[in-house]
Amino acid sequence: MRIGKGVNLFDYVKAHKLKNVIAAKVDGKIVDLNFTLDKESDVEFIDINSKEGLEILRHSAAHIMAQAIQTLFKNAKFAIGPAIENGFYYDVDIGRPLTQDDLKAIEVQMKKITAANYPFVRTNVSKKEALKLFKEKGDEYKVEIIESIPDEQVSLYQQGDFVDFCRGPHIPSTGYLKHFKLLSVASAYFRGDETRPSMQRIYGTAFATKEDLDNYLNFLEEVKKRDHRKLGKELDLFSINDDVGAGFVIWHPKGAMLREIIETFEKKEHLKRGYEFVRGPELLKTQLWKVSGHYDNYRENMYFTEIENVSFGIKPMNCLGHIQVYKSRLRSYRELPKRFFELGVVHRHEKSGVLHGLLRVREFTQDDAHIFCTKEQLNDEIIGVLDFVKYAMDIFKFDYEMEISTRPEKSIGTDEDWENATNALINALENTKRPYQINEGDGAFYGPKIDVKLKDAIGRKWQCATIQCDFTLPERFNLEYIDKDGLPKRPVMVHRVILGSIERFIAVLIENYAGDFPLWLAPIQARVIPVSEKFDNYANDVYEQLKKAEIRVDIEKRNETISKKIRYAELEKIPYVLVVGQKESEKNGVSVRKRKEGDLGLLSIDEFITKIKNESGGVL
Ligand SMILES: [Zn+2]
Ligand SMILES: [Zn+2]
Repeated sequence: MRIGKGVNLFDYVKAHKLKNVIAAKVDGKIVDLNFTLDKESDVEFIDINSKEGLEILRHSAAHIMAQAIQTLFKNAKFAIGPAIENGFYYDVDIGRPLTQDDLKAIEVQMKKITAANYPFVRTNVSKKEALKLFKEKGDEYKVEIIESIPDEQVSLYQQGDFVDFCRGPHIPSTGYLKHFKLLSVASAYFRGDETRPSMQRIYGTAFATKEDLDNYLNFLEEVKKRDHRKLGKELDLFSINDDVGAGFVIWHPKGAMLREIIETFEKKEHLKRGYEFVRGPELLKTQLWKVSGHYDNYRENMYFTEIENVSFGIKPMNCLGHIQVYKSRLRSYRELPKRFFELGVVHRHEKSGVLHGLLRVREFTQDDAHIFCTKEQLNDEIIGVLDFVKYAMDIFKFDYEMEISTRPEKSIGTDEDWENATNALINALENTKRPYQINEGDGAFYGPKIDVKLKDAIGRKWQCATIQCDFTLPERFNLEYIDKDGLPKRPVMVHRVILGSIERFIAVLIENYAGDFPLWLAPIQARVIPVSEKFDNYANDVYEQLKKAEIRVDIEKRNETISKKIRYAELEKIPYVLVVGQKESEKNGVSVRKRKEGDLGLLSIDEFITKIKNESGGVL
């Protein structure tokens, strides 16, 4: 709306009884609500519930948290306090690590500040004045930040007795912050520089309503419960330890079985779709990584070693091995497309700080394939991969979204190649009427890609499949096929994964199902529990019969009460418990307990086998 010169926006909002307004956009620029128009302007009020509104609320909460910290810790020094997705943080230095009790005390102090409803007051000062102020306060981090900016005039914001250097905007007064919570504290370095003294990063969140805050806190609880690192340990799936090295996963029997199930599914589905299995070596000469462009564009993510004075790179991707298979003989147009598949183990350097359970590791397996085809075949090949993705996501019952990532700054190849490749991806999505978004500049260095993001049971999005179109590597490796006219032509290469990293996908599965795998994925589908030692022989007999029927079964041998044995099976989230005793052995049957459903009564062994086979849906 147009509002005239001289009007104060805060007064305007009050006079017009506008609700939930916390800031405004004046001629497109965001300002504090306490802003007086110096000319007639276009004004758009910012609602506290909008994306921008929440960002202002959360960033202001960081100021209020800093004020609370200053009250409690006189010598506290401050670095930066931005809003982030779903919350805010502030990097502070109080000379020691903060505890959970400190967080509680800070929160209590924040409540006093919000109750006092101090206005956020903006003043413009010279850079010199600002420097003097923070030097006097002894806050060397703020001094360094102010020194690093080019502007001669800077703005300060004060609420109560706390002054901060900031561009703004903020909420009009501290009372606007009503629903907030401090969440955690972690160590952080000033400007991420590990040579500097460690600071404390305090995370918090704030919402416009109590309901939104409660929902978010419940969500965080749910995330914690589903944490695959915690469940991986409880369900005895995998471990990672420092003796072996951070980022390297050790698979225990049940975790390895889960992998096996997924990998068997993958192999079967790839064979169905005309892929051929290939396998390249783990180490390839560094010279080859120079030809591919990996050495120039991806070296910091690779590990290198030497054999007899020759440098080798450990593969971070499987492309080069598959290219070698293609190049191993002359190819004719008649044999294209070639689809080479490998459950390829790759190694990538990740800093220890970013490693995270199975999600960020240094060694992982990709369900990787490379399709070599003619330009004319490209559209159909991409559609084939999109169908494959849909099939797999349906099996795992995931919804998903797709994004096209375009050319990044660091990239190889001509403009024309990039345009052709990007159009090929867009066309395949358009032709099959699949919705997608564009993600500018996020492509791989050798080509644009379609990224598939699946949605888990609690609404989180996870990257899994990618389809990358590549005109560059065929050029670099001089790949050819002999066309109809007898002349050599350049094939196109498609890099694609369906589930992505198997490690990562398993993390997603664990968190999605909260460890309660559907029958076809459960590493152990049924457990035989003899009621006493007397029935060990019969229990073994049942176990052998189920094994023969290819059911994943184990047998409870611990010397415990029957109710405890059932409890263990529940904790291990085993879908079926088969209790065997006198009655069962006489009738050659099992008493079946289904997880979450309870007693299903006595079934003959054959009936149980049929039941479990039907229920796994014939997937595996
Ligand atoms: Zn600020
Ligand atoms: Zn590749």
